[in-house]
Amino acid sequence: MAKNILVIPGDGIGPEIVSQAVRVIDALSSSGGLDVSLEYADLGGEAYDRTGHPLPDSTLSMAKSCDAILFGAAGGPKWDVLPRALRPETALLRLRRELDLFANLRPAILFPALASSSSLKSEIVAGLDIMIIRELTGGIYFGEPRGVETLDSGRRRGFNTLVYYDDEISRIAHVAFKIARQRASRVCSIDKANVLETTEFWREVVTEVGGGYPDVELSHMLVDNAAMQLVRNPKQFDVIVTTNMFGDILSDISAMLTGSIGMLPSASLDSNQKGLYEPVHGTAPDIAGQDMANPLATILSLAMLLRYTFLEDGLADMVEQAVERVIERGLRTPDIYFEGAEKVGTKRMGDEVLNELQQLLN
Ligand code: NAD
Repeated sequence: MAKNILVIPGDGIGPEIVSQAVRVIDALSSSGGLDVSLEYADLGGEAYDRTGHPLPDSTLSMAKSCDAILFGAAGGPKWDVLPRALRPETALLRLRRELDLFANLRPAILFPALASSSSLKSEIVAGLDIMIIRELTGGIYFGEPRGVETLDSGRRRGFNTLVYYDDEISRIAHVAFKIARQRASRVCSIDKANVLETTEFWREVVTEVGGGYPDVELSHMLVDNAAMQLVRNPKQFDVIVTTNMFGDILSDISAMLTGSIGMLPSASLDSNQKGLYEPVHGTAPDIAGQDMANPLATILSLAMLLRYTFLEDGLADMVEQAVERVIERGLRTPDIYFEGAEKVGTKRMGDEVLNELQQLLN
């Protein structure tokens, strides 16, 4: 039976970059490699302008019934003045919550030809391929009680609560172990078990879950050491699994290892590996509509969709290889351009990925 992808282009550069990924889907479909149907929906500022709400009910119900979502980005200065409940960012957070997308996957991959874009020495990062899995719906960002209060003494205090239930930890651990099996079979769980009881408990539960995956090597690391190791020797990691807040910080460190935000894909998965796939970057209002945006993060997000929701590793590999070949040939959108390379626009970059993909498919 045909699988169904809900395509949500969003705002700013969203429509430009998503349309290049849709061309890749079309090429895979017409080659007979993929049986898929596409539906389209609105989310974000443009959706607000059209319907009065950034997350129309129709989008939410289509998102609930589809197999996977390919999303561009949402937001922009025009909508920053809206009340928080009507802002594009709120719509995206609500969509993630409604779909219970608790596992955020942020790969940090550095194609060798882009090693000079990193702020670290090329030999430390060339060929880097790490998967950071961040718990997205629990932990200190959601824990209660929280707030700021004034005590009788007149002192004021702010407080948040770091709380995790065993089932929240075990479900993210299962995601990490399963994904490790599709990679180099190594999981490093990051915590602060020497100071925080909740993360000592995290370590205990991850270890229990790991017992069911004897083929995957499990190690543990304290978060302060992990931050250091990510810049000292990042290639030691395969899959990293960690809490919401630690993952927030570590995934941004690992993103910077790769140099350009226009190259970074992401996925947010539920417990059935249904997912929302999107580039890490935002709507880039400064370059929207100018054929300057790098579509590769979105195309690589599509590769993740093929791998993690459709379990089509072969097709995912092909899309990633097509991207790598284009980069190796020296084609660069302005964000990854350096002297001597060939500067291309969004559409031309899409054309070249398609050309390479056609050759891999033939
Ligand atoms: P941004 O990621 O949109 O842009 C930061 C810088 O990176 C800009 O200079 C931009 O031109 C550049 N850039 C981003 N993506 C690029 C690409 N594909 N190719 C080339 N250059 C690229 O971040 P921002 O400026 O902080 O945010 C702009 C808007 O996007 C805001 O409204 C913000 O709320 C929204 N946003 C949305 C998401 C999302 O939908 N998931 C994520 C982040 C930001």
